[in-house]
Amino acid sequence: MQEHHFSCTPEEAKDSAYLENRIRQELGISSIQKLNFRWRKRSIDARNRHIKVNASFDVWVDEEQVPRFESFEFPSVQDAETIHIIGAGPAGLFAALEAILQGKKPILFERGKDVRNRRRDLAQLTKSSILNPESNYCFGEGGAGTYSDGKLYTRSKKRGDVQKVMQLLVQFGATEDILVDAHPHIGTNKLPQLIVSIREQIIACGGEIHFEHKLTDIRVENGQIIEIELNQTLKVPVSNVILATGHSARDIFYLLHERNIQVKSKPFALGVRVEHTQDFIDKLQYHGRLNDEFLPPSSYSLVTQVDGRGVYSFCMCPGGIIAPCATDEQEVVTNGWSPSKRNNPYSNSGIVVSIDPTDFSNPEHPFVCLEFQQSIEKASWEAAGKTQKVPAQCLKDFVQKKKSTDFPRSSYQPGIVSVEMDEIFPPFVLDRLRKAFIDFDKKMPRFVTNDAVIHAPESRTSSPVLIPRDPETWQHPSVSNLYPCAEGAGYAGGIVSAAIDGMNCVSKICQKEA
Ligand SMILES: Cc1cc2nc3c(=O)[nH]c(=O)nc-3n(C[C@H](O)[C@H](O)[C@H](O)COP(=O)(O)OP(=O)(O)OC[C@H]3O[C@@H](n4cnc5c(N)ncnc54)[C@H](O)[C@@H]3O)c2cc1C
Repeated sequence: MQEHHFSCTPEEAKDSAYLENRIRQELGISSIQKLNFRWRKRSIDARNRHIKVNASFDVWVDEEQVPRFESFEFPSVQDAETIHIIGAGPAGLFAALEAILQGKKPILFERGKDVRNRRRDLAQLTKSSILNPESNYCFGEGGAGTYSDGKLYTRSKKRGDVQKVMQLLVQFGATEDILVDAHPHIGTNKLPQLIVSIREQIIACGGEIHFEHKLTDIRVENGQIIEIELNQTLKVPVSNVILATGHSARDIFYLLHERNIQVKSKPFALGVRVEHTQDFIDKLQYHGRLNDEFLPPSSYSLVTQVDGRGVYSFCMCPGGIIAPCATDEQEVVTNGWSPSKRNNPYSNSGIVVSIDPTDFSNPEHPFVCLEFQQSIEKASWEAAGKTQKVPAQCLKDFVQKKKSTDFPRSSYQPGIVSVEMDEIFPPFVLDRLRKAFIDFDKKMPRFVTNDAVIHAPESRTSSPVLIPRDPETWQHPSVSNLYPCAEGAGYAGGIVSAAIDGMNCVSKICQKEA
């Protein structure tokens, strides 16, 4: 097998006869030799008017293709030692898979419902604004990852085995494209089935998943958790606990604090979710090319520094919609997702300002950032009429400090209400957002337009609380069998990094026991 790279046009990249001819020509493979080739890496370079695809292939001459990777074999762990995992998001599920690979029996407790029952609650939320605090876009089987956008791009390559996560996702149903594309994406419509396949594997090996089982207390003796309490009734003795409850489980942060288990405040980011039409973004990014069957819906990534603080685009969803992602009835929260084809007419992205505990008068207080986050979510809920409708303002009106009277269509299904963002955010956030939008408009001309709408707030970007862990052993400093894990504990941001952190927690437990 050899690798071969070249650049070509988007049209050529979709033409397998062209690709075969070009590989034959450039590698001097005659027409009587058998050629097998397969995409290895693919990225689009749209910086110039002549858009190119950077293409890389694995090539076999007179040889059969080999599979991209060996499937993972999951042994039975029916009678093995147990690891208790709280939360069945990407971190919890991948911790469970890794536990099985390492010969341990995972027992997962998840406060929310399984994928199928969760879907009904999401339908109620979007259609009737009825929020179930235990079953929503953040809570339930697969965590915030199930009805997420499923972008799998991660910068956390140093944290662990990205390839292993990708291969496992393929083994459980994702297409091999995620191993090829520079910015892999699964899509909200494909994720639930994949999560079900992971669950079925865990159970087939003798692992356990208990839905609608919320961790409500922990009993610590001599620096060890000896028992956990679920749903305020069921008590379960434990040996090691991976706490993977995500950044929206505020009750868990408060529970740890009440039990004298240290948690700290942590920087996070907060702002708004902006929505343009996808055509508008495509025109900008693809130099006027519109509805091009050879190009995927385009995305953007924007970042600037304003008054010493980063302001940046977050979780950009081409062809996506804005979703109601609150976990409490008296708050509103936005986020975005897109289906695998990214074929909605809208494009949305969070535009967020970094928030630091030192922005507040009591930076040492563990919940200073969390309480700020919560106050913005509640103020947004109040300003928009105490339903799941969200405050909205046209983008140019926001920059020019005007109330909006006339809106283009929004993808946010529960509905929008015209509210000036000044009613919700403090000046240190508003000023930075306004200056950043002016800067983004220079980078992407006409980005600031009244054909774009900002929806508030985008506030669940990362955890506002850190649960400390020893840098070597990953145990909590004062509770040696507690493993704070992934996004909720402050060690991951996104599906892939959360999955890696879950797997690494299991490795740390196994190392301790070796
Ligand atoms: C709409 C949306 C779109 C997103 N798009 C992307 C994207 O494109 N790419 C990307 O990388 N990331 C995306 N994310 C973020 C991504 O989903 C998270 O980063 C990731 O899910 C974090 O994984 P986690 O396992 O650490 O936590 P979570 O996914 O938050 O899972 C935590 C789980 O713990 C459970 N839990 C909480 N408290 C308790 C308790 N007391 N007892 C038992 N269980 C409990 C919760 O119900 C939940 O299921 C998106 C998120 C949303 C909401």
